[in-house]
Amino acid sequence: MKEPITLRRKPLKNKKSIFIFCKTKQQRKTEVRKKIRQNWQILWDHSSKGKQIKKLLDKVDEKRVLGDFYFNQIITGHGAFQIYQNRFVGKSPWCFCEKDEGTVEYAILKCDAWQDIRDSYLKKNSSSVKELLQDSQSRKGMGIDI
Ligand SMILES: [Zn+2]
Repeated sequence: MKEPITLRRKPLKNKKSIFIFCKTKQQRKTEVRKKIRQNWQILWDHSSKGKQIKKLLDKVDEKRVLGDFYFNQIITGHGAFQIYQNRFVGKSPWCFCEKDEGTVEYAILKCDAWQDIRDSYLKKNSSSVKELLQDSQSRKGMGIDI
């Protein structure tokens, strides 16, 4: 809480008039949001959930709620990726090219089947999905803005 504002008035010699101003509604909302985000970050840092997301995004952010079906699969590692399908449905964990496991990293960075799309929309020679997410041209190519 801020220190109360103290003003001296001439007519009241040697006496202080103390004015205390309450925080505005917006200041209180901003403080509450900040506390919620801090607590969320602590929970996030200590949680064993969301390993794929943690590889890509270090900080929590309520402004980053995305509704893109395909992009959310990349971020979470859930959905169409074979490694996920293997874990939850028992399908083969191998990519359909059968050269490696069907992980997010393999599909996005290495699988030959996606080379044309990679060349057209993503930064060349990227070493990680995180690097792609940090590259503005790649984010634009993926149709996202985080
Ligand atoms: Zn493949």
